[in-house]
Amino acid sequence: MTVEQVEQLEDTEKFTFQTEISRLMSLIINSLYKTREIFLRELISNASDALDKIRFMALTDSTALASNDKLSISIAADPESKTITITDTGIGMTREQLKQNLGTIAKSGTSEFLAKVESSKDDVNQIGQFGVGFYSVFLVADKVTVASKSNDDDQYIWSSQAVDDFVIAKDPRGNTLGRGTQITLHLKEDAEEFLNESSLRELVSKYSEFINFPIYLWSSHEEEVPKEQAEDDDDEIVEENLEEEGEESKKGEEEIETRTVQDWERINTQKPIWMRNAKEIEDDEYVEFYRAIAKEPSATPLSWTHVKGEGDTEFRSILYVSPKADPNFFQNLADKARNVRLFVKRVFITDEFELFPKWLSFLKGIVDADDLPLNVSRETLQQHRALRTISKHLVKKALDMFHQLAKDDDEKFGQFFKEYGSALKFGAIESNTHRKKIAGLLRFPSSYDPTAPGVGLDGYISRMKGSQKSIFYLAGMSVDEIEQSPFLERLLARGYEVLYLTDPIDEMLIQNMPGYNGKMFANVAKGDLKFGDEEEMVDEQLEEEYEPLQTWLKTTLADEIDKVVLSKRLTTSPMAIVAADFGLTGHMERLMAAQGQSNKDRDMMLNFMKMQKKTLEINPKHPIIKSLAGRSIEDMDEDTKQLVQVLYETTAIRSGYPLQDLNAFTKRVETIIRKGVGASLDEQVEVDVEAAPEKSEEEKQADEVFLKASQEDHDEEEDVYLHDEL
Ligand code: ADP
Ligand code: MG
Repeated sequence: MTVEQVEQLEDTEKFTFQTEISRLMSLIINSLYKTREIFLRELISNASDALDKIRFMALTDSTALASNDKLSISIAADPESKTITITDTGIGMTREQLKQNLGTIAKSGTSEFLAKVESSKDDVNQIGQFGVGFYSVFLVADKVTVASKSNDDDQYIWSSQAVDDFVIAKDPRGNTLGRGTQITLHLKEDAEEFLNESSLRELVSKYSEFINFPIYLWSSHEEEVPKEQAEDDDDEIVEENLEEEGEESKKGEEEIETRTVQDWERINTQKPIWMRNAKEIEDDEYVEFYRAIAKEPSATPLSWTHVKGEGDTEFRSILYVSPKADPNFFQNLADKARNVRLFVKRVFITDEFELFPKWLSFLKGIVDADDLPLNVSRETLQQHRALRTISKHLVKKALDMFHQLAKDDDEKFGQFFKEYGSALKFGAIESNTHRKKIAGLLRFPSSYDPTAPGVGLDGYISRMKGSQKSIFYLAGMSVDEIEQSPFLERLLARGYEVLYLTDPIDEMLIQNMPGYNGKMFANVAKGDLKFGDEEEMVDEQLEEEYEPLQTWLKTTLADEIDKVVLSKRLTTSPMAIVAADFGLTGHMERLMAAQGQSNKDRDMMLNFMKMQKKTLEINPKHPIIKSLAGRSIEDMDEDTKQLVQVLYETTAIRSGYPLQDLNAFTKRVETIIRKGVGASLDEQVEVDVEAAPEKSEEEKQADEVFLKASQEDHDEEEDVYLHDEL
């Protein structure tokens, strides 16, 4: 039926498309895309989804398939009417569903897709990912008719010529489908190439490779038929190919002819890829399968693993690492990932289940289990013992896959870690069982080679110094910032390696993973740092000499610190501030302050930690400290106190702490500068400003008139403006 015919029907109702869909369709029909053949992939994929749905329903409702028990997809081109028809015996759509599903957008992300397509034309290829694949029919057709029969309704027709509106009417032909959906595309003139049988066959086989239902194509082939029979059987015969004249018939009186016969030919005969033997599958096939299930038609997965589970629980699975992490991975943790499709004995059950712990939920793929009951409901599925066993097994396999990638391919592993490093760290925090195995995968920037993307903990341990007991690290916003830290000086000078933790999750990671392979982590910005060889380094004479200065500093800076010690970590800086073991490092304090929204418990905790006084380390070799130590305490006047205060404050900045009182600090610096340039200390700045002139009487009156008028006009809107300005 054509759109015009549907429009003439008695009960036809007209609807307008949701605005985004109209926008999408104008884009689709007004641009020339190289990849318009993808319409076929989208229609086959929708047909397959519809077949999955009815088969799933039949697991619990024995009457579901009564309307038609053959599950298949068939595709036919008709060069005469210039149409392609795709028919499935899937779940079908009721009148209401036709209106909803083919008129509004269910999934979010369409605007994102529109923006993408508007900027680069070939991204139309990704249409399936955004839940609007159906509309790709308008790449090749200017009129589309969808007839659909659901078990719950009569057969209805949906029809549209794109962009603004569509019509729906009861199908005057009655129930011709039994159950399912038939989509007829009236091809645009420039898309008639798709009527060509051989190109259509090629496309169908390309896009149906991983579809688990039979796909039939209406096709012609040559066949030898006895002459009389052939003449009777004229429905099937389109064109005759007469045998060469003069050739003798082989079977006596019975004459044979070669004729072109048309019938349904099954295109896809393959077993599902996951049921095949991994050794016989080419890499290309794995990549193509990924593209089909992830709906990322041009992406190449970073890695995959094909698992066959035997014994107690039999299952097959293929898992992939996508080349790009979901940028909202951490924001979407609360939602179900829907990245893995679950089959039970080849029957698709659901993708709304949790196979993996959250930190691994980025993996995509399929699982086909033999030991789950076919009629398991989605609700009880999650608790099923077999699924838990499979899950455990697959987590291990996934970790093996990551380790293998680390071993085999530095570059790919680097890319993997860049995309999923934070997810792995999250895993090391969450999972007691897998912490150690995950830790072996972690990479951190390091002083060993600050330009490299990162070093692993095993490598670090192998480079540790003789007496070194701990894995040294320092956290900060960036490698550059960390490299400026005074804490690093002595360690690096002595040849120790320090890990640079720049990921916000790192400090939390270390709190949950205090050590690795028997070595504890040690924050070089915290507590009492041990190198392992300090015994030999104690210098009692030095300690005695600096005693008075230490006591004086402690009283002078009593508000900020509670301890002054001679530093083991400084070489060129005069002093550094070190957090107590339970206190916050400067980096942590800034991170927590930047975390926005306050929460009572966290604020209390934060304040408690901030109140923990810090330790001041002084460098006995530094000229400033040496000269201070050389003075007697009686000589320490108010000026010296101020200078020491400023020295402390600049040290705080370098150690990464926010200043407590910025104004006082600025004043002190100004005083020092005044002294330096010889300006008077108490001379005030002469303030020489003229007040702006007041309004004249006329201006005042004009304003009042205007104000009154606008108040009356906008009495209601005023609130809104006020809010806006706030
Ligand atoms: P998606 O497949 O991502 O949901 P589409 O734009 O391809 O997005 O399809 C929109 C919706 O239309 C589908 O979710 C489905 O409900 C319905 N639909 C499309 N094709 C069929 C079909 N052949 N049989 C039943 N329902 C269909
Ligand atoms: Mg679709």
